[in-house]
Amino acid sequence: MTQWITTISLGSILAITSVFWMADDTHSKSIDAPYEVSVKHVQDDTDYEGVPQAIESTMEFVSTNHACDKCSSKDPALHHKHQCQSHNFKQDNQYRGIEVGGNRWIKMACDEAHQSVKEGGGPFGAVVVQIDDASNKVIRFWRCRNQVTKNIDPTAHAEVSAVRTVASELGVFNLGNIRQDDPRLKLTQPGETSHCEIYSSCEPCPMCYAAIRWARIDTIVFSATRYDAAEPGVDFSDLELYQELATPYQDRASNGLRVYQATTKNSLDAFNLWKNTDKVAY
Ligand SMILES: [Zn+2]
Repeated sequence: MTQWITTISLGSILAITSVFWMADDTHSKSIDAPYEVSVKHVQDDTDYEGVPQAIESTMEFVSTNHACDKCSSKDPALHHKHQCQSHNFKQDNQYRGIEVGGNRWIKMACDEAHQSVKEGGGPFGAVVVQIDDASNKVIRFWRCRNQVTKNIDPTAHAEVSAVRTVASELGVFNLGNIRQDDPRLKLTQPGETSHCEIYSSCEPCPMCYAAIRWARIDTIVFSATRYDAAEPGVDFSDLELYQELATPYQDRASNGLRVYQATTKNSLDAFNLWKNTDKVAY
């Protein structure tokens, strides 16, 4: 009961805080967005430093790393149930050639994830940064966190929630090329064009990766890996899902999964109508 009360009052505080932030920009309609409570958009006017600098490969895959005094204590009674981990786990050159250090934005995404766990939510955070193309200045940014348990929504991952909210607030489908002359655009921007980049505390799952790409965001920076997310005690399915997608449908039965492609006479009616209809393309 105490936890519920804490959650409710926290939600109220965040809702009020969110409204306060929204007051910064009179064009914002985010009060109506489904994820406004833990998403904040903040106007900014700093130079965008770009994605973090490349670093040497830090590939390693070890089963344990003792990161805290409790875990490295000689007294087993003091140990955490699950040992703390101090390095990202990687495998099979998966990340070779894309390894970078940190910057303000990826640290912010990881802070958001950490804060989310402290407040009873899932351990994921994402930050979307909107950047003016001409000046390379940050126009505004959004912080978002996983809201699966809060919203009872299995799709409310941090990145999906961020994409939904940013698109809804900006009023555009394409977050990779935001045009000032777009009649749908709801928030102001100083130059003719801008674009968004996303920083995520963890490697996007296939759903989030697809959501980011559907939003036409073409710069993704993540920190924890799919292997970190699969560690005992963390227990998320990102790695399994990536493996499943790489498996032919008929071979997925070993996972208890049944997928069928059905032939039916009206299968293509919608596509045929769509091809020849005046439409809002996206
Ligand atoms: Zn996801």
